Amino acid sequence: MLSSTERELLLSRIRDIPDWPEPGVVFKDITPLLLDATAFATAIDALVGTARDQTGTSRIDKVVGIEARGFILAAPVAHVLRAGLVPLRKHGKLPFDTRSVSYALEYGEATIEVHSDAFGPGDRVLVVDDVLATGGTVQAAAELVEAAGADVVAVSVLIELGFLAGGDRLAGLDVHALLRL
Ligand code: AMP
Repeated sequence: MLSSTERELLLSRIRDIPDWPEPGVVFKDITPLLLDATAFATAIDALVGTARDQTGTSRIDKVVGIEARGFILAAPVAHVLRAGLVPLRKHGKLPFDTRSVSYALEYGEATIEVHSDAFGPGDRVLVVDDVLATGGTVQAAAELVEAAGADVVAVSVLIELGFLAGGDRLAGLDVHALLRL
């Protein structure tokens, strides 16, 4: 949970880019947040906090980062939690055997893939991304995790675009958004 000062700091470091990459989309550019050491550390600490219980304990085996901005956030979260890192990548980027899922995006369509040896049965998994929009990407990520017999313990994002109601599509998943816009 962010304090109001932390919330204001993060909000002030997220830049709206209207009509990018397509007309009608307001792109949430997080590069100003990444540039600011305090804002970046605040965001990572808060994402880590979503995976901890009241005693400060977390039992996460793997953190999934969704290409591409999800990687930037998931890697430091995995490091702090002492969990493994699993990159979920766009079609054709991973060199080993993969599992894949196709899904609709806020803009366009996409296929994401994961290495077939990324998860073990019963692995406790945290899914991390920058923006939750329609929820299709996170839903596809959860399908890939669960197809491997692992469990999605929580989904943690920096920003949830509330007006797109992506969270509704993710009923059954424990979704945490640092900022709901
Ligand atoms: P969705 O599947 O619709 O929830 O879209 C989520 C994915 O698309 C995330 O990986 C985001 O990085 C990206 N995305 C979707 N909409 C936006 C947006 N308005 N600003 C920035 N990234 C977005």
